[in-house]
Amino acid sequence: MRKLKIQALIFLGPPGAGKGTQARSVANEFGIPQISTGDTLRDAVRKGTPLGLAARTRMERGELVSDEVVCGIAAERIRQPDTSRGFILDGFPRTIGQAEFLAGLLREEGRGDPLVIYVRVGADVLARRLSGRRTCPVCGRTYNLHFSPPRQDEVCDVDSSPLVQRPDDGEEAIRQRLAAYETLTQPLVDYYSKRGLLHDVDGGRSPDEVSRDLFNLVAQA
Ligand code: AMP
Repeated sequence: MRKLKIQALIFLGPPGAGKGTQARSVANEFGIPQISTGDTLRDAVRKGTPLGLAARTRMERGELVSDEVVCGIAAERIRQPDTSRGFILDGFPRTIGQAEFLAGLLREEGRGDPLVIYVRVGADVLARRLSGRRTCPVCGRTYNLHFSPPRQDEVCDVDSSPLVQRPDDGEEAIRQRLAAYETLTQPLVDYYSKRGLLHDVDGGRSPDEVSRDLFNLVAQA
């Protein structure tokens, strides 16, 4: 397991940039937890908890859930003991309000400045990545029908379960998610850049190439 100087890593980028995939490989490489507000919300929707019921419609439409709700989720998760050596935020913050909240929380917890990794990808690649995305509902492994297909058509390589598409990967929801990104999340690139915390990574390459760069970047930060 490799050591880490920076405590908080933030993955920023449009939906389909590969944030989740890259966050997972950096988390494994450095032995720190990956915190995905999207995964927490999807889990709550599956279990039908009050949080899930409140978030479901907005998520299915591709709209953002309120700052209050996601800040609560993130704060509770960051305060768990397994984050003591550091943690990765995947899909949070997504608005300036969330970024301000996080800055306050990191200060309070004595965690220092975050390292923000901006995964940059062109619009044509994004559209293909999002429409081809499939997940195994049993083991959670992700595939892409265009770029990294399973060995057998639409079936998981690991446990042979039929793969599913996320409810918010339909055409209209994708359009809405990209619009929400442009309006609400893209300003964070400027926000973190002005504070000297942003590192730009070309996410249009193969997952392995991107991971190699990220391991070096994080190890040297
Ligand atoms: P993701 O898996 O990160 O793409 O998130 C899936 C959906 O969960 C998003 O389209 C939003 O509806 C919701 N969501 C996840 N993270 C956030 C966040 N930080 N702020 C607002 N909504 C979020």
